[in-house]
Amino acid sequence: MTCRDLQPFLSTYVDGEFDAAERARMDAHLEGCPACAALVRAEAAFLAALGRAADVPVAAPAGLRHRVLAGLDAEDRAARRPPGVRTWLTVAAALVGVLLGGSLLWGRTGPSPRQRYVESAALNHARGLPLEISRVAPENVEAWFGGKLDHRVAVPRLQRASLAGARLLHVQDRPAAYLRYDAQPRPDAAPRDVGLFVFDDHHGEVPAAPYPAVEVARSRGYNVAVWRDGELVYELVTDLDEPELRELLPSAPAGAPPVRPASYTP
Ligand SMILES: [Zn+2]
Repeated sequence: MTCRDLQPFLSTYVDGEFDAAERARMDAHLEGCPACAALVRAEAAFLAALGRAADVPVAAPAGLRHRVLAGLDAEDRAARRPPGVRTWLTVAAALVGVLLGGSLLWGRTGPSPRQRYVESAALNHARGLPLEISRVAPENVEAWFGGKLDHRVAVPRLQRASLAGARLLHVQDRPAAYLRYDAQPRPDAAPRDVGLFVFDDHHGEVPAAPYPAVEVARSRGYNVAVWRDGELVYELVTDLDEPELRELLPSAPAGAPPVRPASYTP
């Protein structure tokens, strides 16, 4: 395996989503490859900073920002990274700065619980992680998740969109099904990426209204639509504007289950 083969999967590795065999292969490579090892450390530092940024009280960001940037700098000097890594770190540090700056705006109380779920979904969608299965029928996607998640996964049929594939991801600390669709809201426009997270909330802890009452929030340049179908919460992430987003939503005929899974038969 070369660095180029491995680097798209570094964040998956850092997330701890590899199985034992994959992890062993990656560990073996990292032992002999300072460049990839540096990227892994940077990704871990970046994710840790994101996690802290989500609940930093208003007084802390300046100090925390300084420590994060100083830490990245020191690590960079120690590792004598090649130019590509240096560039990546600069980007990561800048992003951390933006995020911490953003956390100032939340004020003393921080983001609401719902906004934290919105942010988490937008961030994980933006990471563009590789899909684990692609080009399979929605029924097969539901079956694929069967052994991997404790909850059922209903794959909604979005309007003017086709299912591209799926993977496991998370929203905050909840394991989630992540479905990616190619959406084409206008016939003459290029297809756009839409990410849909499905996760369990059978205790009703996530503020989300039952479908078709879909609420749309903004985060990191994305529109994020949130709704509930029974014990499942859905978060749809897209860079489409809100009217176009709403045109994608599954239709809900009166008396039918609000979001029909592909496997639903009346
Ligand atoms: Zn390498």
